[in-house]
Amino acid sequence: MEKKPESKESNSRFAPFPQSEPLPPQAAPGADGEDALGVLVVEDNSDIREMVTLLVSSMGYHTYSAATGKEALEQLRLYTPDIVLLDLMMPEMDGFEFCRAVQADPALTTPHIIITSAKDALEDKVKGLELGAADYLTKPFDFTELKARIRAGERIVRYQKMLKEQQVLLEQLAREDKLTGLCNRRHFEERAHEECLRAQRYERPLSLLLGDLDDFKQVNDRYGHACGDMVLRQVGQTLLLHCRSSDLVARYGGEEFAVLLFETEAEHAQKVAERLCAAIRTLSFSHPSGPFHITISFGVASLLLQRKQDLTTLLEEADKALYAAKHKGRNRVERGLDEPSPETTPAVPAEKT
Ligand code: GH3
Ligand code: MG
Ligand code: MG
Ligand code: MG
Repeated sequence: MEKKPESKESNSRFAPFPQSEPLPPQAAPGADGEDALGVLVVEDNSDIREMVTLLVSSMGYHTYSAATGKEALEQLRLYTPDIVLLDLMMPEMDGFEFCRAVQADPALTTPHIIITSAKDALEDKVKGLELGAADYLTKPFDFTELKARIRAGERIVRYQKMLKEQQVLLEQLAREDKLTGLCNRRHFEERAHEECLRAQRYERPLSLLLGDLDDFKQVNDRYGHACGDMVLRQVGQTLLLHCRSSDLVARYGGEEFAVLLFETEAEHAQKVAERLCAAIRTLSFSHPSGPFHITISFGVASLLLQRKQDLTTLLEEADKALYAAKHKGRNRVERGLDEPSPETTPAVPAEKT
């Protein structure tokens, strides 16, 4: 690393650096299965930087170092360290500017910043903390105290990480149907609503399948509810298997499934539904009383560019088509309105989908 001009803080101010104990290597913070955190030491005084980096490393952290605020920003972007020990007086970009740059960049995750500075004026401490630093330690500091502050920072960082993970998990749970692992109705409708708007705006085809298992009540009655659950799970997996990974497959209700087919016109959507129908029909379920089979009926509805449709009308049309499929004997696919209704038909001739 190119040697940068050092700030006015002379080494003598830190020499001898009050070192309360030697630095035996410590158990890595990640020793109990957690990953070791990363600590970035930002300090223009090379002696102090090396000494502190060594100390931090001996505590079991991944260490990075920078001699200016500018270098620190680069390191932050590259390695996303969890904790930053930040000197204030540095050439090129000082510690305050570094804090401002971190706050100004939404792409950067704010690390736990511990300012380590010879500046001990109250206004500097307040300014540092207001600019996003979490802690402030004045130089010369005691190594024991620095270590304790880093450990305290680690506890906060780990707690924040845990909260983030829980949030991701909760968001996933809120989207997922517990039994089948497919997305649930709420998520399906949110996404399908957006996709309907997008498809209409860019005049792209979009189709919706609503499927309902035939006489499923009998499956429960004959084979038991647990067996019915197993059937629902397997149906979900079969639908996923036979759809494109980009399609959105959901458990829409008890024994109802919904599939959103992107870039798919009515005719092709019908073929997809027929393929799914056949795949479900050929599934074989084992039971002590002997193997059994089930069937599914589908209603298909597609966006028509000539008509103003939203998700509600699309769902209604698919539902009507599904009802027709049930009425016509089940184990089949029926298609909804393919023609724009006369009252909404514009002057442009409708292209048959
Ligand atoms: P149809 O062909 O007209 O759709 O007849 P059906 O018997 O499938 O329809 P119905 O609405 O009469 O019954 C739906 C059945 O689905 C009854 C309900 O107990 C069952 N069901 C809904 N959710 C679950 C579930 O999570 N697990 C199990 N095992 N069964 C469920
Ligand atoms: Mg300095
Ligand atoms: Mg039903
Ligand atoms: Mg049913």
